[in-house]
Amino acid sequence: MEEIILKARGKINLSLDIIGKRKDGYHLVDMIMQSVDIYDTIKIKKRDDKEIKIFCSNPNIPSNESNLAYKAAILIMNHYGLNEGVNIHIDKKIPMAAGMAGGSSNAAAVLVGMNELFSLNVDLSVLKALGLKLGADVPFCIEGGSVRAQGIGEVLTPIPFMDIVVLICKPDDSVSTEMVYKKFNINEPYARPDNERLIEGLREKSLEKISSSMANSLESVTPKLIIDIDKIKNIMTNSKAVVSMMTGSGPTVFGLYRNIYDASGDFEKLSKEFKETYITKTSEGGVEIESRY
Ligand code: ATP
Repeated sequence: MEEIILKARGKINLSLDIIGKRKDGYHLVDMIMQSVDIYDTIKIKKRDDKEIKIFCSNPNIPSNESNLAYKAAILIMNHYGLNEGVNIHIDKKIPMAAGMAGGSSNAAAVLVGMNELFSLNVDLSVLKALGLKLGADVPFCIEGGSVRAQGIGEVLTPIPFMDIVVLICKPDDSVSTEMVYKKFNINEPYARPDNERLIEGLREKSLEKISSSMANSLESVTPKLIIDIDKIKNIMTNSKAVVSMMTGSGPTVFGLYRNIYDASGDFEKLSKEFKETYITKTSEGGVEIESRY
């Protein structure tokens, strides 16, 4: 095999609860993570030398050693003593710095892709442990689907999947995850989800139960910095969305809908003002191998 092409799916948080803070500054979380069918396409091709080259369709994303796909490739090369490098082409669709794990999903695809390309036969559990060195969301992105993530995001438990129509809308401004967590004050009141009930809602396929159990603790921070978050939420909930919430540290907002027709009206409205507006649906997987050559 010389080349492999993969889908690297983004995610939304159906919930994000902050339950404490570790001595090293990391927050302890309890989140319901859900893959969505918006994905970057990652093409990995073997090179004759030991170089790693990144080619990204979005010029605002660094193509050097700071790209998470690069970090994943060097990690695999060093860990397994590979003598061949790779060219990595990233076709970006997942909004950047948006709370949708765009970078983490790319790293996850490179770990899975290089495992296949170089026939390393590494178990997914080992890849997930390696991925955790790159970021707390990387193990989830490898597995994908519907997952409860606890600890700092690395303790993963699969939960029932429900097919849901999702409208995604990213305000034009961006925020860094690190800055949002820094501004979060655990001593002030903040919204808390009911994750047990949310999982019951997924099992029962009850959109009403799911939506009334959802919350994102970081909505005490980001909407104060980016006013479009509340504007988008209001547009969605004043129309046909069953619920609307910010994903991750934001600023992307998503709405859950009963069907595609309900979502289409809001798509028309929002896409006029916000260019990164997409109708999608929940997905049962994260990284997916598309083809091998
Ligand atoms: P998360 O939901 O995990 O917090 P995010 O959606 O907030 O992630 P990303 O899209 O991953 O954020 O981008 C965060 C930063 O990472 C950006 O400033 C970007 O320059 C950098 N970055 C490095 N590699 C990548 C990559 N392959 N794709 C996207 N961003 C990347």
